[in-house]
Amino acid sequence: MTPLDRLGRPLHDLRISVTDRCNFRCTYCMPKEVFGRDYTFLPRDQVLSFEEIERTARAFTALGVEKLRITGGEPLVRRDLPVLISRLAALRTLDGRELDLTLTTNGAALRALAGPLADAGLRRVTVSLDSLDDAVFGAMNGIDFPVARVIDGVGAALEAGLTPLKINMVVRRGVNEASVVPMARWAREIGATLRFIEYMDVGHSNGWRLDEVVSAAELRDLVTAEWPAEPAEPGYRGEVAGRWRYLDGLGEFGIISSVTMPFCRDCTRARLSADGQLYTCLFAVQGLDVRAVLRDDATDDEGLRTFLADAWRVRDDRYSELRSLATVDPDGRPDLPRVEMFAMGG
Ligand code: SAM
Repeated sequence: MTPLDRLGRPLHDLRISVTDRCNFRCTYCMPKEVFGRDYTFLPRDQVLSFEEIERTARAFTALGVEKLRITGGEPLVRRDLPVLISRLAALRTLDGRELDLTLTTNGAALRALAGPLADAGLRRVTVSLDSLDDAVFGAMNGIDFPVARVIDGVGAALEAGLTPLKINMVVRRGVNEASVVPMARWAREIGATLRFIEYMDVGHSNGWRLDEVVSAAELRDLVTAEWPAEPAEPGYRGEVAGRWRYLDGLGEFGIISSVTMPFCRDCTRARLSADGQLYTCLFAVQGLDVRAVLRDDATDDEGLRTFLADAWRVRDDRYSELRSLATVDPDGRPDLPRVEMFAMGG
């Protein structure tokens, strides 16, 4: 029933982008020089409706998906999001269990929405925050959004029981390395799991360079110099973060090392963009048009499942591994094409 791709990887998790819009302009994702007032986002009729998202997610669960992550753009800017969450929360795995239903957000709207989302059936959240220093964070988010409001959103999520709560922090050399240890201290204090993300070469807008990546090994050393930790086993095949457990018992931290230690071999993840394109790799150049299948009256649910299963079976993506082997252009960037992350759903 569950399809395997060409490298023998099962389909286990699906990320669903519910909008290509975002209220932040993070320099490494949607820099304001590129995504300014003149930028044209998707018109409404090109974005999947809640019915279409639910139908697609149901087809995926029939193929073995057990984990759904809602993302964007910024998912909380999509109107009536709790309505979609309640529909997705009603889906079940092949053996009748609840799905692992979660969401990644910048946290700006969590004070207002954490309660309604939890009531709708959301189980937990990941909040992105790159520094506790307002000057650093304001420059990175591109709109001077204050740290205190994200922290307040995190508090609202904890109060609403959206746990275990994870914090994502992208680390960029020369920009927020000094924030690594303070962020780890704060996450330990509030009982959240901090996950460092190596700065990635998604899309072309951010002008990525390899020398801006702070490696997993450096990140581990920075944290364990303060609080010794030991490696922890992955929760399941395909878990993206390498896990480290603090020896003093105060939880763990993770490192997503897609650049220096690619984990393509274990990648069990598909991505659905806001306009219904299916991507089988974060670094894919082209998606498959699921929206056309959904809007074709001649295709029933079985036809949809067959389309998705076939798409998975031919998958042979392993961009991050290939990046390690690729030649670089004169600016030190790998000479490989790719799509913007906000467009396909981070
Ligand atoms: N707006 C939501 C948020 O802020 O979490 C969800 C979408 S965002 C694209 C998902 C995650 O991707 C965030 O944690 C963000 O920091 C991360 N991200 C975006 N661009 C990245 C890059 N170039 N390298 C590493 N992580 C990146």
